[in-house]
Amino acid sequence: MDFKQHIASIPGFPKEGIIFRDVTPLLEDKDAFKACIDDLAAHAKDLGVDVVVGPESRGFIFGCPVALELECGFVPIRKPGKLPRETVSKKYDLEYGSNEIFMHKDSIKPGMKVLIVDDLLATGGTVEAVAALIEEMGGEVVGMEFVIELEELKATEKLSKYNIYSQVKY
Ligand code: IMP
Repeated sequence: MDFKQHIASIPGFPKEGIIFRDVTPLLEDKDAFKACIDDLAAHAKDLGVDVVVGPESRGFIFGCPVALELECGFVPIRKPGKLPRETVSKKYDLEYGSNEIFMHKDSIKPGMKVLIVDDLLATGGTVEAVAALIEEMGGEVVGMEFVIELEELKATEKLSKYNIYSQVKY
């Protein structure tokens, strides 16, 4: 399936100079959404995944159905103040300012094989922080999957030690 035809490109959103890649048309099409999830799951089926981890919020939309197809659980990565139990967190730099992401401390057990799923790989800052959190808890990141990769930002260079699969590249 050509997933690109189900992704909208919006110049100037959320600010001037940015082309926002919008996955909502893909989600609205039941056949495209199903094919997308089937393809992500197929690419991870031989990795021995114990758990899928997805960052808020579009990582939930794609990560949860992939976890169900792989017959494993799902761990959410959240913004500050959202998780009710004891957490671990990681700060990372953005172009302007910084972000901090949180995960429940007991979600990843030592030796767990983890697949990270998100909608889009841009600079790789988000997924690098997610991987660092998982590794600090003793987990092994066996794969990273994205619907979209923005190739010109060269995230795969700094993430070269990871097994990365992206469905659509811009
Ligand atoms: P990174 O940390 O720079 O790789 O940015 C990736 C994160 O930003 C992902 O969680 C995406 O959801 C979000 N993101 C960045 N650019 C876009 C876009 O064009 N469309 C949708 N999400 C985006």
